[in-house]
Amino acid sequence: MADIYDVIVLGSGPGGYVAAIRAAQLGLKVAVVERELLGGICLNWGCIPTKALLRSAEVLHNFKHAADFGLSADNVKADLPAVVKRSRGVASQLNQGVTYLLKKNKVTVHMGTGKFTAPGKLSVTAEDGSSTTIEGKHVIIATGARARELPKKTGKADGKRIWTYRHAMTPPEMPTKLLVIGSGAIVIEFASFYNDMGAEVTVIEMMDRVVPVEDAEVSAFLEKALKKQGIKIQTSTKLEDIKADDAGVAVKIKGKDGTIVEATFSHVIAAVGIVPNIENIGLEDIGVEPDERFHVKIDDLGRTNVKGVWAIGDCVAGPWLAHKASHEGITVAEAIAQDLGNTEVHPHPLDRRNIPGCTYCHPQIASVGLTEAKAKEAGYEIKVGNFPFIGNGKAIALGEPEGFVKTVFDAKTGELLGAHMIGAEVTELIQGFVIGKTLETTEEELINAIFPHPTISETMHESTLAAFGRVIHI
Ligand SMILES: Cc1cc2nc3c(=O)[nH]c(=O)nc-3n(C[C@H](O)[C@H](O)[C@H](O)COP(=O)(O)OP(=O)(O)OC[C@H]3O[C@@H](n4cnc5c(N)ncnc54)[C@H](O)[C@@H]3O)c2cc1C
Repeated sequence: MADIYDVIVLGSGPGGYVAAIRAAQLGLKVAVVERELLGGICLNWGCIPTKALLRSAEVLHNFKHAADFGLSADNVKADLPAVVKRSRGVASQLNQGVTYLLKKNKVTVHMGTGKFTAPGKLSVTAEDGSSTTIEGKHVIIATGARARELPKKTGKADGKRIWTYRHAMTPPEMPTKLLVIGSGAIVIEFASFYNDMGAEVTVIEMMDRVVPVEDAEVSAFLEKALKKQGIKIQTSTKLEDIKADDAGVAVKIKGKDGTIVEATFSHVIAAVGIVPNIENIGLEDIGVEPDERFHVKIDDLGRTNVKGVWAIGDCVAGPWLAHKASHEGITVAEAIAQDLGNTEVHPHPLDRRNIPGCTYCHPQIASVGLTEAKAKEAGYEIKVGNFPFIGNGKAIALGEPEGFVKTVFDAKTGELLGAHMIGAEVTELIQGFVIGKTLETTEEELINAIFPHPTISETMHESTLAAFGRVIHI
């Protein structure tokens, strides 16, 4: 009889492979089942390859603005296939990195599609059709999610004219006139990328502002900045109809005032959300319950309703982000180790108030915690600080004076409730506030902390000072 694993992880994205490594570190016998590429969406088709594309766009943008820095760069051109090749190379390097890490940690990898045949049993069907059964005391479902298709009447993303994010990452050709449907983090990054690469880009958003989950001031600032770069933005606007043929895509768009406008585009990117990969993996057969939004239902340590079956990442409740999936992976691995008798681990349930979100459009966006509106809605009496990049020496020296840092504090206790940033490198800076929030910091610690000069991080200090009427540089 085959060995019984302590833990089987179904799916090897940033949730699954991190859970597997942590479980192995804790001395457990671990297997991972993966049907496509180790590293999941994040490394192969998500976070990483998009950032590689955006980096090329940023370099191109900087070349185009060379004169602003007293330099000249003539005849600079984008070579889209070469840009995509670099991005695929970066993804492949990281895929190999995960392969190495799993091997180093003695995690057994079963390549194939996994399906529950019983709570602790999975059949794994390889690409050649051969099948094996593996057994585990515990199984972690980490099967992630996929792009939600546009409704049938509005068109299927076939990769020719209508693209999902995968097509947009490996485009068959450069779009000349691109329509981006939606303005969440994933698609707004593509809007930014293709605009920098030279396409004419239009973004339509059903809500009344772009990046609607962010603070309203960040949305307003981004809309202005993107429009300045030449991106057309239409909010409170809905796609009514879409028809693609070899020549292009004809769409009908319903505007704010209810009028329907017809337009044609060379290509369309549609990102209307994600769907968890929880079908056809035997969950119904073993009785795993979904939540009200059809994700796998879990408790705060990642347990499903079936003993020994756990779930993490994009197949459970959001936010659907890689770092949230990895955090859940660590929690579940430690909770399993505890169940198996390890008394030294102390799994930390996810604290949703402290999950940062980053968007790598140009300018970048980063945030953590409550927006000003949400803090008010939650009944807090608040103090708000706002500091613009134009008041920061380093931002000006870098030629990046566009942006601001907004901080939201509890007026009574001084606790940092939220931070919202837009501008250069804010996706690197936000972690300062995340650590502060995790330590339940108040304005006092942030005010007394010494920020290095000259750095853009000084805007974080100044924003805190501004909230308490002590701003220096504006
Ligand atoms: C274009 C794009 C950009 C993104 N950018 C960011 C970003 O900048 N930052 C961020 O935090 N997040 C980003 N995300 C989201 C991020 O990729 C996901 O939140 C993250 O990958 C979720 O991790 P996961 O482990 O839950 O699942 P996934 O990464 O989706 O991995 C799940 C794995 O399970 C495998 N699998 C599924 N079913 C089976 C089965 N039955 N048998 C075997 N294997 C199976 C899949 O093949 C896949 O490899 C982005 C996503 C996209 C699409």
